[in-house]
Amino acid sequence: MTTAESATVPFRFFALRVARTRRLGPSLVRVTFTGVPEDALKGFASGGRDQSLSLFLPHPGQPEPVLPPLDTEDLYAVLGAWRAMDDDVRAVMRSYTVREQRRNPDEVDIDFALHEDGGPACRWAEQASEGDRVVVLGPAVADNTGVRFRLPEDADEVLIWGDETALPAASAILESLPAGLPARVWLEVPYAADRLELSTDADATITWLVREEGAPAAVDAVRAAELSGSSPYAWIAGESGSVKALRRHLVNERHIDRRRVTFVGYWRKGMSEDALRETPETSEDEA
Ligand SMILES: Cc1cc2nc3c(=O)[nH]c(=O)nc-3n(C[C@H](O)[C@H](O)[C@H](O)COP(=O)(O)OP(=O)(O)OC[C@H]3O[C@@H](n4cnc5c(N)ncnc54)[C@H](O)[C@@H]3O)c2cc1C
Repeated sequence: MTTAESATVPFRFFALRVARTRRLGPSLVRVTFTGVPEDALKGFASGGRDQSLSLFLPHPGQPEPVLPPLDTEDLYAVLGAWRAMDDDVRAVMRSYTVREQRRNPDEVDIDFALHEDGGPACRWAEQASEGDRVVVLGPAVADNTGVRFRLPEDADEVLIWGDETALPAASAILESLPAGLPARVWLEVPYAADRLELSTDADATITWLVREEGAPAAVDAVRAAELSGSSPYAWIAGESGSVKALRRHLVNERHIDRRRVTFVGYWRKGMSEDALRETPETSEDEA
């Protein structure tokens, strides 16, 4: 493959190791990764906003995630071979968001929500320490399909709802918004101490819905709001049930054009991501 052709491959595998971790609050831990070798992140090109990636994690006791050989550009062949491996051996795959990518030194942050129902990714993040190895299937070009937040040029108001799993994406989206754009933002977190300092040039009204304080359901909080825009754009992500209810409210009750409502079920109560991936009705279109 020529350089010009390889430059158009939107996603690639990157071997990473943990540089450091930082607890952001009771429910969130930030893990900062560097490349293996160190320059491996040179070709990583986050599109920002809600840029997602697939994270491959080792099982407890494994020194690194077990994957088929990655020295090919044929992602489908690698993923097919990975699927054919034994569940107990092959790397655990989970979806996460690039909270931030930095250069010099090349680093990527991923913020993990810790949950009582702890799955493998949550348990891995809780115990992550310097040197721990992972692999990501991540962006090699900034304009890629892992960025779903697409602000229409004529949007005169942005509506954002996210729970703790979507807080990294919502934070990065807020940082990307044009100065002065009105934004109504609802962020749902388990504990008051999970609230983060957010930075934006938008004219943002941010409401924290803190579950331990008995916050109303997401849809009730949004329903109660008076919105000012005549051509709004909405982005909603988090627990599938809440996402579904909010999308219905925005499209059916607020009559927002469904093409201007980006919605992604990030997780579903009682279902692991593996199970979710195999459940057809959990596709984004049906949330
Ligand atoms: C595009 C995309 C981007 C995402 N970005 C992020 C991100 O940046 N940060 C982040 O933390 N998550 C993110 N998620 C969500 C994350 O992939 C899921 O929460 C995932 O299920 C976590 O894997 P796990 O191994 O911990 O749990 P799983 O093994 O998948 O699930 C085990 C159990 O835990 C429950 N569970 C999963 N997540 C939660 C939760 N947050 N609270 C309570 N119970 C839960 C499941 O319902 C299940 O019962 C993203 C998801 C998508 C699709």
